[in-house]
Amino acid sequence: MATLVKELRKRWLEEMQSNPDDKKHGTAYGYTCGCRCDKCSEAGTGTYSKRRTKVLQLQEEKRQAMLQRRVDKLEELFTAAEAPLPRINGKVVVCPKAKIERNKDV
Ligand SMILES: [Zn+2]
Repeated sequence: MATLVKELRKRWLEEMQSNPDDKKHGTAYGYTCGCRCDKCSEAGTGTYSKRRTKVLQLQEEKRQAMLQRRVDKLEELFTAAEAPLPRINGKVVVCPKAKIERNKDV
């Protein structure tokens, strides 16, 4: 499949190079095919920078989401720290198994 696309692009590039009036000049596709005439370069870099902006935007959104998750986690930890520590006979319970035993007592 990829080879077919490559083959097609090569053929179109040849067409474009042999015909300066080819309709594909000045399109992003012309640029993708490998034509670097002024018109295709302009079209290609325009598309590229638009795509690049989109990628940067997505990366920023991901980064923000990750930061938000960290903030949420920290808030959760602080909230847990404010809550009274689980105790058995006045001793702070630290292991999960002990917590289960504590629940049994109650
Ligand atoms: Zn071109």
